[in-house]
Amino acid sequence: MARFSESPAPGVEFAYEGELLHAEDSPFQHIEIYEHPTFGRTLVLDGAVQTSERDEFMYHEMLVHVPLLCHLQPQRVLVIGGGDGGTLRRVLEHSTVTDVVMVEIDERVTALSREFMPSIARDAFGDPRATVLFEDGNAYVHAEGEPFDAIIVDSSDPIGPGVVLFETPFYARCLERLNPRGVFAAQVGSPIYFQDEVRMAFNNARKAFPEVRLYFGHVATYPGVAWAYMLCARRLDVDGAEAGARGADRKISARYWSPGLHDGAFGAPGIVIDSLSGSRRNPFSS
Ligand code: SAM
Repeated sequence: MARFSESPAPGVEFAYEGELLHAEDSPFQHIEIYEHPTFGRTLVLDGAVQTSERDEFMYHEMLVHVPLLCHLQPQRVLVIGGGDGGTLRRVLEHSTVTDVVMVEIDERVTALSREFMPSIARDAFGDPRATVLFEDGNAYVHAEGEPFDAIIVDSSDPIGPGVVLFETPFYARCLERLNPRGVFAAQVGSPIYFQDEVRMAFNNARKAFPEVRLYFGHVATYPGVAWAYMLCARRLDVDGAEAGARGADRKISARYWSPGLHDGAFGAPGIVIDSLSGSRRNPFSS
């Protein structure tokens, strides 16, 4: 058994033990795949857990269903990152979707995810509506191209290739690549341990998008479990009942997302409001 862990704060460690099945350095990052007794096959990039077979639904349903159910008729969707295919799969569950472009920078993440964790993407990579490109997502959005109804950023943390995906020029270009009613969503980190990241993404996005909202969920394998996402648009309507009705129409399958959670997820904890207002830089500072 091998031990892998993340330490989001001094004296704090989230540690796991599992069998290391594969490890390699790609041109972009260090990639590891573990067999974990509770979470099954688990993908780790540069020492940070990205996804596991048994809790991936908690993350992918919140990252995908919340924005797409806030849109009346999402047809063309852009996914940036998401190499494991879990985001692509959930997008393709929406019967309104006609065309998904997934832009992942690291081909090795997808190849290894398909080899070791096929249950995450299932047959999404073979869906005729899906186009998968291996290039930098920031460069892709800055190039000319057709507009999208939704842009979903399933990136790693703002380190290495992921840094540009948390900056204002990227958000501003995404707004330009969206149709007038288009929605943008991204994972932005732990609302407890990575408050600087969440605040940075929120403030950078607000320089580009007229409306920016944070919403929250849980992911069992992420440090601190609580996780924050960001939803942006020209105008947002996040009504849970409406989202529920749309979800039923589109026959999406959800084990974690629910209409009630959809509403509640936009309620920000006081420690996040303090952090965003700058009155307290982290919840544990005396
Ligand atoms: N759910 C995970 C998380 O919250 O940490 C993210 C999972 S997904 C595997 C993250 C993917 O983003 C990785 O495969 C990484 O290669 C990709 N990525 C990072 N920077 C990128 C960029 N600039 N363009 C496209 N993909 C990028």
